[in-house]
Amino acid sequence: MKTKKPSAERVWKQFEDLAPRLRLSITDRVVYSHLFRHSRLEGKLRLQFSILWLARGTALSHNTVRWAVRRLIARGVLRLVERSKAGHVVEVRLPEQVPAAPPGPIPRRPLCPIRCDTFEELDFLKHPALRRAVHLRERGRCFYCLNRLTALTRCLDHVIPLVELQDNSYRNLVSCCRKCNSHKSDLPAADLLRRLHDERRLTVVELTARLRALDALVAGKLPPPKPWIPGSARFYKRRRLLAPA
Ligand SMILES: [Zn+2]
Repeated sequence: MKTKKPSAERVWKQFEDLAPRLRLSITDRVVYSHLFRHSRLEGKLRLQFSILWLARGTALSHNTVRWAVRRLIARGVLRLVERSKAGHVVEVRLPEQVPAAPPGPIPRRPLCPIRCDTFEELDFLKHPALRRAVHLRERGRCFYCLNRLTALTRCLDHVIPLVELQDNSYRNLVSCCRKCNSHKSDLPAADLLRRLHDERRLTVVELTARLRALDALVAGKLPPPKPWIPGSARFYKRRRLLAPA
């Protein structure tokens, strides 16, 4: 279906005004530009394409472009004519043709929960969301001295040092202050807690509670909150840690 080629400059200006109003993300914009370039700028109203072609053309992942297409359809920027195994057929609208109100709810990319059965085997140093989960479990306090932590003062410590045990599971990682981390070095965690008590940085009650917490941690009774990571299914599948949820 041939159509008159619009002015690229005019469309670009109109789209720049439209995108914030529709709350289009950068990837939505990239995907629209690519589709627009291969349809309306070539005098075609409709375009048939596959997700694979779109991902290659925009240098984005398949999942990213798939969700961008869904959002553009939901916001009325694209009109879905047909979807089949061969791909999508869409009508690429000019910004002035986009309806003022989106025709339907905006689809959100789902967050993938980490499965419980593989949680025990996860390497908690492998992803920022997993490292954050360990910090969250300690609720902003150093696991050893109980001092308040900030994003700048906190770090992760191996309860049983890496030289003794290569274990990055949640049972061997705690959130602590940099001071405790450097004092502990290769000391057993219980010895560090007793030293903190000797230095009057922990009371007897706190020392007892910390030693109990240490036992619970090693026994796997202090799991961190399960992190929800956008696109985590792909992340973990690639690393053969998890199957998609
Ligand atoms: Zn500390």
